[in-house]
Amino acid sequence: MKSEVRELLTEQLKDAYSAEKQALRCMQRTLRKASNATLREGIQLHIEQTQVQIERVEQAMEKMSVRPGRKICEAMRGLVEEAQHEMEEHEEKGAILDLVIVAGMQRIEHYEIAAYGTDIALAQAVGEEEVAALLTETLEEEKQTDLKLTEVTQTSIMPEALAGEEEEGGAESGGTPRGASGGSRRKKAA
Ligand code: FE
Ligand code: FE
Ligand code: FE
Repeated sequence: MKSEVRELLTEQLKDAYSAEKQALRCMQRTLRKASNATLREGIQLHIEQTQVQIERVEQAMEKMSVRPGRKICEAMRGLVEEAQHEMEEHEEKGAILDLVIVAGMQRIEHYEIAAYGTDIALAQAVGEEEVAALLTETLEEEKQTDLKLTEVTQTSIMPEALAGEEEEGGAESGGTPRGASGGSRRKKAA
């Protein structure tokens, strides 16, 4: 039934609203811990984008005549908690902590990408084209953020992390990991 799909969409919008607000706070805390200049710029840009994304969700909810309410996105809560916990295990600022930051942020971006994909499909299904358009703008930003995180890791953070390892008499330099983060912990050389 169409009204039930609409209802589902409004619940998803409330979830997105909570998720974005949690992600924003997480990035604000994360920015203080990041060292790599490009990573820092990326986080700062996505903080600004996220502030607009929150406004977009508000606009979408207005169009559907719903209020945010008290819904908490439990998944984002878990992702943020895990990311913060991992960061706390790496006191020292530098390339390794930057890898940990990227690992946490990419998990968050992927959750958002998945959620907005669903939300856009729901909006289109019930003919909420404006809502779909708003969420599509956001989805593109999430995808771009994910790509940029991969790029900065491959071009700058990972080489730095591996170079740091060499100084300690460790790893051989070499293949760039396929994943952006390639694991959140330092890998021991074989
Ligand atoms: Fe977002
Ligand atoms: Fe959620
Ligand atoms: Fe995001």
